[in-house]
Amino acid sequence: MNPARLAVTRTRVTLVLSSCFLLLATSLSANAERLYADAHLHYVNFFQRSEGIQAVIDAMNENNISDAVLMGLPVIKMWAASEPKRPEYVFADDAKVYWYSLTDEILARAVESLPPADQARIHPFISGFNPVDKLAVEHIQRMLDWHPGFWAGIGEIMTRHDDLTAFTYGEPPRANHEALSPVYELAAKNNLPVLLHSNITSVRMREPLYLGELEDALKGHPDTRFIWAHAGTSDSINRRMNMKFLDNEVSRLLATYDNLWIDLSWSILDEYVLTSDRDEVRTHWLKIIRRHPERFVIGSDLVGKFDKLGDKMKAFDVLLDELSDEQAKMLAHDNLLHVLSGNE
Ligand SMILES: [Zn+2]
Repeated sequence: MNPARLAVTRTRVTLVLSSCFLLLATSLSANAERLYADAHLHYVNFFQRSEGIQAVIDAMNENNISDAVLMGLPVIKMWAASEPKRPEYVFADDAKVYWYSLTDEILARAVESLPPADQARIHPFISGFNPVDKLAVEHIQRMLDWHPGFWAGIGEIMTRHDDLTAFTYGEPPRANHEALSPVYELAAKNNLPVLLHSNITSVRMREPLYLGELEDALKGHPDTRFIWAHAGTSDSINRRMNMKFLDNEVSRLLATYDNLWIDLSWSILDEYVLTSDRDEVRTHWLKIIRRHPERFVIGSDLVGKFDKLGDKMKAFDVLLDELSDEQAKMLAHDNLLHVLSGNE
């Protein structure tokens, strides 16, 4: 079968199988068990290792997760000769990370090994490029050519990311870097959303130091759909400060840019949306989410290991339980499918 035809067939299979899974899930959940879609899942860790694609599918099946955005990681941690011990964690020692394009092929091979019914639930994103290389877009085009009809998005593009930026070879990546303009344009042309990690500030500055970079991207590429990872927060920033300006900025961005979606995973859910004991939702965040319920997605942000997938997704229940049934369904599941398809 020629590649274009295969792509069309795959899309059809995806639609049919997705609806089958939905029907199945609906009939199984007479107890109104919630159906989730994970907007942020990494197939590999910072050493490009993974428990494997079957572990992803098993964890999804066990936890009522119908769909997942699955990506590699654009960098790999090296074991430098200067380091006395083989590293087990990206920040375990002083050795750097470098850009690693093979991550996309590792992911593609894994996903393509699945039976069609499982493949249809995985939405693979292209991430393996250096975002300050003006030729990066060629890698993305190559991936699109090698696996026609396969890719569902681009990212996670790692731009401002505190410790990770410091550990990465070369110029600090920025959301408005000139190398990324053709990437955003290619995304729009191919109807692919972009998952962008761009910290709102550094770990010390109590002002939205880097927000202008994100806004340049949003403003300059109105036809590109952006999912902002963790709403610009990170674990390292959270450890240093509480960003008092964050909720106002998120609110303003959502009102200003209709090509923006917010990924509530990890550092934003844990430290901002929920109270410190994580059993209540902060009212000002609830207000923002209720005002724009179609603009938020949820995710696990796990890397290479999937045994916590259910816990990570169910951590959103505290928030979802505060919303109307319709809004909860949007955040838990429907919004992601809309942002992937580009349909309202
Ligand atoms: Zn991530």
